[in-house]
Amino acid sequence: MFTKNPKETIEIGRELAQKVKNGGLFCLFGDLGSGKTTLTKGLALGLGIQEFLVKSPTYTYIRKYKTAKNNVFHIDLYRLETIDELLWQEISELVEDKNNILIIEWADKLKDKLPDNSIKVIMKYIDENTREINIENE
Ligand code: ADP
Ligand code: MG
Repeated sequence: MFTKNPKETIEIGRELAQKVKNGGLFCLFGDLGSGKTTLTKGLALGLGIQEFLVKSPTYTYIRKYKTAKNNVFHIDLYRLETIDELLWQEISELVEDKNNILIIEWADKLKDKLPDNSIKVIMKYIDENTREINIENE
């Protein structure tokens, strides 16, 4: 599908958030500016997070939010050159805990290590205000 402004992308995220209940993993793919963080804002809203920080972490790649039901982890792998074993272990431990919901930007850096029950969101910049969004395994 296509969105024509950031609000529409946020709305898709908000609706998509309803797909997870007991834990879950959203893997976001797409180049810089394709709208991953914007969609994450929608996911956060849909999950009941009011205080979502739009600016991606500079010195940390992971941010934790608590909702009434879940812990939500926003992970941005953009600045990481390689995903080492330790980080992979950390992520897979978080995924295993059914109280946790993970949202991972630049999930392609995890390569073949993604669990197959993840919801994949593939985002593409079309022009200034248009983005193409494809969702797999929802
Ligand atoms: P990413 O996290 O993939 O690098 P961001 O969500 O941080 O991307 O940035 C997307 C930028 O594109 C924002 O400045 C946003 O306002 C703008 N934008 C314009 N149109 C759209 C759209 N349809 N969907 C999402 N973002 C859009
Ligand atoms: Mg981003």
